[in-house]
Amino acid sequence: MPKKRIYNFSAGPATLPDEVIEQAQKDIWNIRDSGIGILEHSHRGKVFEDIIRETEHDCRQLANISDDYEVLFLQGGATLQFAMIPQAFLGAGKHLDVLNTGIWTENAIKDAKRFGDIHYAYDGKDSQFDHIPQDSEINYSKDPTYVHYCSNNTIYGTEWKRVPKTEHPLVCDMSSNILSKPIDIDKHALIFAGTQKNLGPAGCCLVIANKEFLAKNQREGLPFLLDYKHMAAKRSMHNTPPTFTIYIIGRVFKWLLAQGGLEAIEQHNIAKAKVLFDAIEKDKDFYTAFGREDSRSVMNVAFRTPNAELDKKFIDEAFQAGFSGLKGHRALGGLRASIYNAFPAEGSKALAKFMTEFAQTNR
Ligand SMILES: *Cc1c(COP(=O)(O)O)cnc(C)c1O
Repeated sequence: MPKKRIYNFSAGPATLPDEVIEQAQKDIWNIRDSGIGILEHSHRGKVFEDIIRETEHDCRQLANISDDYEVLFLQGGATLQFAMIPQAFLGAGKHLDVLNTGIWTENAIKDAKRFGDIHYAYDGKDSQFDHIPQDSEINYSKDPTYVHYCSNNTIYGTEWKRVPKTEHPLVCDMSSNILSKPIDIDKHALIFAGTQKNLGPAGCCLVIANKEFLAKNQREGLPFLLDYKHMAAKRSMHNTPPTFTIYIIGRVFKWLLAQGGLEAIEQHNIAKAKVLFDAIEKDKDFYTAFGREDSRSVMNVAFRTPNAELDKKFIDEAFQAGFSGLKGHRALGGLRASIYNAFPAEGSKALAKFMTEFAQTNR
């Protein structure tokens, strides 16, 4: 049906800025007047060398990352980090604490179990992962090697509004809200994010790791690609990195800087989410938001109509009206609008209008 670009609410890979796509079209043919397209450049040549260094530099500037941290572009997505982190830092007699807020933390636990013991400092299972815990709901164990949490629960639409309080090293899966607002880098030992939600295309994982944490805790003898210290020494280029993905991430960083950085994008994101939550609130006899009000995500708005049949009708009619990607995650059902950094404000407004009309005609 679509002959033109439509509003894409996909949870990831997701909408990228128009300006980035337009520039990429040109750079695929011939980048920086080199006579060669970005897809065809050697990763060891000057053009790509400049791109990856600028990308790291812009990332540091955007998120205010100090020299105490490595910035790495690794492969295997966020999911490889579920294994790579415990493999590098756990081992006999060591354990991690987890703040379990949904499927993505559970997936991390499944792999971590291979390398050490798990202590649930919080388990949201009993409340169907409908909220982010208060400090009083969290009980850390004695001396975990690190604490694992997920800052935005993509599936349920719940988001941490603070960094969990702990004196233990903190590891965060920031895949679905990285760079959506200013980040307290210094409160973390390691942050990772699959790039296909807020940063660019699939095929890469951004890792921000504290150098002292790596020096103190990483075990020796790891395979090259699974060794943070080695990858840092090689500046993410032990082997051929996903060059095109890194190039696009670099363009997205420049776009974010041009938007005014993370404070500005945060305001923009809050406004986009508010439009949708207002639409839910206005017709609250018809729509229900999944997350508890104090925990609602600014990135993923998970909601439902009165029943599964109407959810399906909503998805079908929304697609006809030019809105794609609104089906909820298969684990939760219902509907979900993912509105990451690059998703345009007009798209949120247009969906809110559609929601109001749909409620009127189907109640
Ligand atoms: C999408 C997502 C992942 C998985 O990312 P991959 O890059 O596909 O491995 C992990 N964690 C969170 C929070 C996600 O949203």
